[in-house]
Amino acid sequence: MKTLKIAIQKSGRLNEKSVEILKNCGLSFENYKSSLISTVTNFPLEILFLRDDDIPEYVQDGIADLGIVGENVIVEAGAEVTYLQKLGFGKCTLKIAIPNESRITEIAQLEGKAIATSYPVILEKYLKENHVNADIRTISGSVEIGPGLGLSDAICDIVSTGGTLKSNGLKPFSEVMKSEAVLIGSKGSELLPEVQELLQRILSVLRAKETKYVVLNVAKTNLKKVVDLLPGVKSPTVVPLFDEEWVAVHSVIAEHDFWEKINSLKAAGAQGIVVMPIEKIIA
Ligand code: ATP
Ligand code: MG
Repeated sequence: MKTLKIAIQKSGRLNEKSVEILKNCGLSFENYKSSLISTVTNFPLEILFLRDDDIPEYVQDGIADLGIVGENVIVEAGAEVTYLQKLGFGKCTLKIAIPNESRITEIAQLEGKAIATSYPVILEKYLKENHVNADIRTISGSVEIGPGLGLSDAICDIVSTGGTLKSNGLKPFSEVMKSEAVLIGSKGSELLPEVQELLQRILSVLRAKETKYVVLNVAKTNLKKVVDLLPGVKSPTVVPLFDEEWVAVHSVIAEHDFWEKINSLKAAGAQGIVVMPIEKIIA
């Protein structure tokens, strides 16, 4: 069996969730902060801990077969890799922001303006699509202080809550790109059986995250109403109770409209509702 290599961020915003998803796939490994490589003891896999900027290239060149990194970093690097799966964490948006007092209201008004960013490739593509010529000033960090220092008229940077913009007297102006952490592979890696196996495990962890396991009691007279509200994987399981008038219903429900669903179940006569997390759903 081939030993795969997966590159993940050594420290930073994506490290913890990347480690967590691999652990939830049932992989055993030591997560020593000091080591740059860790061997999984129960799967043919080595984990490389790298700066996130280096991950796209490692995967493109096949030094690592797989990687977990933000889409923003992949697109900026222009790396030729295969997107295998969005992972649902590390969500953020790359935005252009302008000083609060700026009179710019339309993208066309960025013509000839200086924009500071750590994402020159993505910004250039965006400006081109919008037929704007601007002066892109590439800096590696603390982009938000650009306008205050007179370095630029606007910035293009990652925004999640907007707090950093606010504290630097900036307001968001337009959205350039949405990003989240993704699993990428070297070209052709998706054909390897070990990659397929790992991908299946990741999918089963992601599916489980989107759902909850629910057990509830309902009088038989209300059973139809309650069952109609539940999709289940096939159909809900109905179990007899000691009290012959009542049954217990077991089902899986989606996380996204969880509270709405619980409230309609209650209204339909469900009682003693117990909700449990699901670890994995094997397709
Ligand atoms: P490294 O030391 O590995 O180079 P870094 O400082 O470049 O790390 P982090 O700040 O740890 O990067 O961010 C990693 C990724 O997390 C970003 O590329 C982006 O995809 C995602 N992310 C999510 N929310 C945010 C945010 N609010 N600010 C910056 N990045 C975010
Ligand atoms: Mg980085």
